[in-house]
Order: sequence, then structure tokens, then C-alpha cells
Amino acid sequence: MKNILFVISGPSGVGKGTMVKRLASKGELAFSVSCTTRAPREGEADGVHYFFLSEEEFLKRVANNEFLEYDNHFGNYYGTLRSFVEEKLKNESVILDLDVVGALNLKRVYPEAVLVMLLPPDKEALKERLIHRHSETPEQIDDRLARVDYELSLKDRFDYTVLNDKADEAEQQLREIYLQEKNKA
Ligand code: 5GP
Repeated sequence: MKNILFVISGPSGVGKGTMVKRLASKGELAFSVSCTTRAPREGEADGVHYFFLSEEEFLKRVANNEFLEYDNHFGNYYGTLRSFVEEKLKNESVILDLDVVGALNLKRVYPEAVLVMLLPPDKEALKERLIHRHSETPEQIDDRLARVDYELSLKDRFDYTVLNDKADEAEQQLREIYLQEKNKA
């Protein structure tokens, strides 16, 4: 069995973070801690949820080719650290929480990565989740919702899609996909 890169992606508010947390909490998948230039939210710790960097520090790392992929959405940079992922992969599989474009970019440099797009039951459900998590302003919510159709239109380029209607069922499907892919080698 090989260690794999298991990428959970999908539109903002679809529940990627929750699914990734659930899967990583069982100890078999290491969470890839990304770098970001956005400010920490309440309860987020540096080095645990993200490595929080200034824009200058982030761009220095871009110039040093330290990211497997990076992207700028909604005015902030997000990037996957090559060294972090490669180090973890020596011993365990790695789970990543990436936006849709970032996931496809990662697949270009790392074709063995397994990409899953989480799908919302409908757009209204996404809006509800974004409103209820209270981490975005109304303008930010509108920006994120405006991207949803474009992001969903890219779903055929993913290895799998999983409907996130009932969280327990979605988690179970993700676990099955992970085990199937891990046992392929
Ligand atoms: P948030 O600010 O809500 O934590 O994340 C915003 C978006 O950034 C989410 O869609 C999340 O999946 C994505 N994201 C988190 N880390 C990375 C990364 O390293 N690279 C890319 N491309 N997107 C990321």
C-alpha cells in the first residue's frame, strides 16, 4: 500500500473543512497545513490550521518555488507547501483542503493525487452554511456564491464527486474512496 495525496475540494461553504477534520481525526491521514495571507479567525492557531504569513513572506516563498500549488482568492493567497507534504508522505497519506482551481493545479504537478469534489445538495444550502459560519461579510458571501457555478462546471475533471447532503454518509463515501485508492498500489 502506498501513501496517497487525497484532495478534498469543492465550492466555498460545501463542508470541505468539516470532512477533512473528520477524516484527519482518525489518525490515518495527515492534514496538509497550507500557508495563507488571510488573518486568523477566532480559534485558529498558526501551524495547526494554517501557517499565517504576510504577503511579503508568501511571495518570497513563491519565488523560492516552495509551493506545489498556490492561488489567490478573494484577495488572499493560499498555498500548499512542497516540503511539508513531501515530508508527511514518507510516513502517511496526506489530506488536503483546496479550492477547485488549486486542486486542478496540484494534479498537474502531482498527477497521482486523488481529487474529490464535494457537491452541495443545492445552492441555497451553500448560502445557508456561509451565512451561519459568520466568518465572511455579506460582500464576501456574494463573491463566493458568484464563483459556485464556475467551480461546479469543472467537476468532470475530478476523479470523484461526493454529494455532501448528510455528513455521515459523505464521510463514509470519502473513507471508501480513500481505502480503495490506497489499496490500488
Ligand atoms: P478559508 O479562508 O475559508 O480557510 O479558505 C478559503 C478557500 O481556500 C477554501 O476553498 C479552501 O479550500 C482553500 N484553500 C485552503 N488552503 C489552500 C491551499 O493551500 N491552496 C489552495 N489553492 N486553496 C486553499
